[in-house]
Amino acid sequence: MIAPTALLALDTLLTEEEREIRNTVRRVCDKEIRPHVAGWFETGELPARELARTLGEVGVLGMHLEGYGCAGMGAVSYGLACLELEAADSGLRSLVSVQGSLAMYAIWKYGSEEQKQEWLPAMAAGERIGCFGLTEPDFGSDPGGMRTTAKREGGDWVLDGTKMWITNGSVSDVAVVWARTDEGVRGFLVPAGTPGFTVNDIKHKISLRASVTSELVLDGVRLPADAMLPGARGLSGPLGCLNEARFGIVFGAMGAALDCLETTIAYTAEREVFARPLAAYQLTQEKLADMAVELGKGLLLALHLGRLKEAGTLTPEQVSVGKLNNVREALEIARKCRTLLGASGITLEYPVIRHSVNLESVLTYEGTSEIHALVIGKALTGIAAFK
Ligand SMILES: Cc1cc2nc3c(=O)[nH]c(=O)nc-3n(C[C@H](O)[C@H](O)[C@H](O)COP(=O)(O)OP(=O)(O)OC[C@H]3O[C@@H](n4cnc5c(N)ncnc54)[C@H](O)[C@@H]3O)c2cc1C
Repeated sequence: MIAPTALLALDTLLTEEEREIRNTVRRVCDKEIRPHVAGWFETGELPARELARTLGEVGVLGMHLEGYGCAGMGAVSYGLACLELEAADSGLRSLVSVQGSLAMYAIWKYGSEEQKQEWLPAMAAGERIGCFGLTEPDFGSDPGGMRTTAKREGGDWVLDGTKMWITNGSVSDVAVVWARTDEGVRGFLVPAGTPGFTVNDIKHKISLRASVTSELVLDGVRLPADAMLPGARGLSGPLGCLNEARFGIVFGAMGAALDCLETTIAYTAEREVFARPLAAYQLTQEKLADMAVELGKGLLLALHLGRLKEAGTLTPEQVSVGKLNNVREALEIARKCRTLLGASGITLEYPVIRHSVNLESVLTYEGTSEIHALVIGKALTGIAAFK
């Protein structure tokens, strides 16, 4: 027997340091997350503060950023950490992605020195949590239509509007909020508890239940002039952050797929149907082989994009190829694994249905599959089929 990732000897493409980082994150997930995550998913409650501190101690929060208490690791190491986290649950990877690649990255890339000093070291340590408010109730795929405004009043800014579907919202100490101003879209740091700023959790989710998702309401929120991120002008600001987070998903989705496949291979070896192990049937082996092939291809793609990112040449279109393919294939793998688990596949006793419904969110956030197809289509034809 050979493990799905060993089939293509993918470890030979990693450095010793990268393997070590992956193994460390895996150990933490095995100890701190896996034993509890099905319960968190079932109750829809996540001990986000405790988890953030644990993840901060391991050094995965903003691990690909340099300075300010961040670990300054390479893109592949960051991707492998995302893979291990998402093998535990997409909700945990979402917590880390939003903290590191959206909130921290926005401050790191576009913030003033004072903003960086104030927020980044505490966020890297997991003592403070951040969220990223771009989507609105009427504007998801088309953030350029946003209605949230920031208006100057004397030396202050006053923000009004609503952000929707915001990961980490109610557990955040700071929200990076994108708003329309006279000079185009700008980013603002809104500390929790600022008068006029309220956060409501979104209930009744069937997907990403081990993740906090909230609505942010800004009603005349008055902020000092230095709450604005000076380095971000226009939509390229938030889109630059999204590109970082999407990169993590390229690896992360393969983690969810790997967990499904490993679970299913073990299950089919044990489960007897018609007096033989389920794994002994040709139809089963064809499914397992197809899934291992797609997993291997997805991991190779992720590694390739990781090396391009490390070389500083990764383009948004390439990230779209990775996000579109790997989330689509991960979802396909999760669904196929579910069939092999039969009725057991619909319970939380096994992680497969949890990964499957989680991946439905991953398919939609950070750019839907359709939007990534349109980005690739534009690159291929030179014609933008969307604004
Ligand atoms: C669990 C979860 C967590 C999230 N976390 C965050 C967060 O932390 N911060 C944040 O800002 N946002 C977050 N989001 C929001 C997410 O980014 C949006 O849901 C996503 O961008 C899609 O927007 P929408 O839901 O409004 O769908 P819509 O934009 O309304 O899209 C609906 C459908 O129309 C399709 N479509 C859209 N435009 C076109 C077109 N031009 N041509 C063809 N088809 C098109 C889409 O692909 C989709 O299939 C989160 C979402 C979820 C589910």
